[in-house]
Amino acid sequence: MTTSLDNPQFSILSSVREFVSSPHQLFIDNEFVDAADGATFETFDPATEGLITSIASAGTVDVDRAVNSAYAALPVWSQLPPAVRFALMTRLADLIDENVESFAQIDSLDVGKPIATVRMADVPLAADALRYYAGWASKIEGSTHTPNIPGTTVYTRREPIGVVGAIVPWNFPVAGAMWKVAPALAAGCTVVLKPAEQSSLSALLLARLIAEAGIPPGVVNVVTGLGEVAGVALVEHEKVARISFTGSTAVGIDISRRAASTLKTVSLELGGKCPNIIFADADIATAATVAASAIFFNTGQTCSAGSRLMVERSVYDEVLEIITAAADQLVVGPGLDETSTMGPLVSDEQYRRVTGYVKLGQEVGAKAIRGGTQTKGDGYFVAPTILVDADDQMPIVQEEIFGPVLTVQTFDSADEVIARANDVSYGLAAGVWTSNLNTAHKVASSLKVGTVWTNTYNYLDASVPWGGMKASGHGRDMGREGLESHLQTKAIWTAFS
Ligand code: NAD
Repeated sequence: MTTSLDNPQFSILSSVREFVSSPHQLFIDNEFVDAADGATFETFDPATEGLITSIASAGTVDVDRAVNSAYAALPVWSQLPPAVRFALMTRLADLIDENVESFAQIDSLDVGKPIATVRMADVPLAADALRYYAGWASKIEGSTHTPNIPGTTVYTRREPIGVVGAIVPWNFPVAGAMWKVAPALAAGCTVVLKPAEQSSLSALLLARLIAEAGIPPGVVNVVTGLGEVAGVALVEHEKVARISFTGSTAVGIDISRRAASTLKTVSLELGGKCPNIIFADADIATAATVAASAIFFNTGQTCSAGSRLMVERSVYDEVLEIITAAADQLVVGPGLDETSTMGPLVSDEQYRRVTGYVKLGQEVGAKAIRGGTQTKGDGYFVAPTILVDADDQMPIVQEEIFGPVLTVQTFDSADEVIARANDVSYGLAAGVWTSNLNTAHKVASSLKVGTVWTNTYNYLDASVPWGGMKASGHGRDMGREGLESHLQTKAIWTAFS
């Protein structure tokens, strides 16, 4: 089977062709090396199902090497003047920007993302995170104290926590990696990054740029490999002080359990089932149009996807009309095709999961007004799907589907919609659309979620903490909180006479 690289319609950079056809090795101590046992895994083009290439698959020995490299680099990196750390991090941000087209082509090929999405979202978000956190490197401060014991003084130092194991998923490969790496570097920590199996190529391009930026050996290592092998080895390694994880709730629970045996700190950015609530007094045209992109963006493979639309009864028909029209306008196709506005799902596993939920939803009584039946050709393409007549306890309303599948339900009052929106295990994000300030504040303060967007959706910024409540995890990426969790406090007492 061919890949999108063989499609003459797509103009691929020669540097990208060279990169894809070169060996894909682990990045340890700023050098590219094979796995000790020579193991590899394969990565496929989700638009054609064709084999792209093979990638080194790290085993326990390789992860141990990478962690030791990061451990040895800790004094080097943490003792560099903050201005130097700032310069190296911003240099990496510049290199990421300069390579935007390479990242766009590689992640479109490997993950199926529409190329414009990588250019406009993934790459700028990654560079922004580095620049934001580079500024924090010079602003890490302790405190002074006057204890009740005469003749003493105390000051505190904020010190890096140590080696950070960053384990990330495939849906925003470059940005997701930098949301973990950037705060760790600002705090003076060193990192072993484990990208997802489905999106390792762009992580290895990132590795090249890390070396090119002049970041010292061992400060950032990249171990490509399987979650149950390389991921587990990282979580269980005694020299890793912290695991910063983004991924599924099931794996997050497993990581929590394993990390406990070495008393690591853990932050977990997990799944979501996000309610998007439209009141009748909202700007309906905007709310409904944004609600469509809130679910169909990135083929619904977004933790914050507004997958559960709840509409006040009197505007239900109007909202549905706009959303179905928006779904009909989507152009489903390969990520590398500039005209595609929705790419394929990332993998066969994802395809089965999403189509399985759509089938199940209809079996238990929901009605598909868009999508719903699926004829499988080459590639993991699914139609934008809109399901109505779903009740709250159906799996399609309770569980994360992680695909372009929207349920649309009605509600009659603010109290009712708050109770129903909170009645899921997840608590990542939510949208509220209303022109009434009272309603906006009441709903925003009552939802058990980490982020509420009022009259907008899916806005993110490196300065704003991001994370979930309940089964969506704990800890925060980004913002000051994202930095603080990479620091530990030392109190230093001095007696004087
Ligand atoms: P996943 O949990 O299967 O994998 C995520 C990462 O963990 C991958 O790198 C994988 O190799 C690794 N991994 C798998 N098993 C492991 C184990 N036992 N120990 C250590 N590492 C292991 O998730 P996925 O399917 O790649 O990503 C989709 C999930 O990620 C969705 O649930 C989505 O909501 C979530 N997500 C959450 C956020 C957020 O900010 N909350 C952002 C993006 C994605």
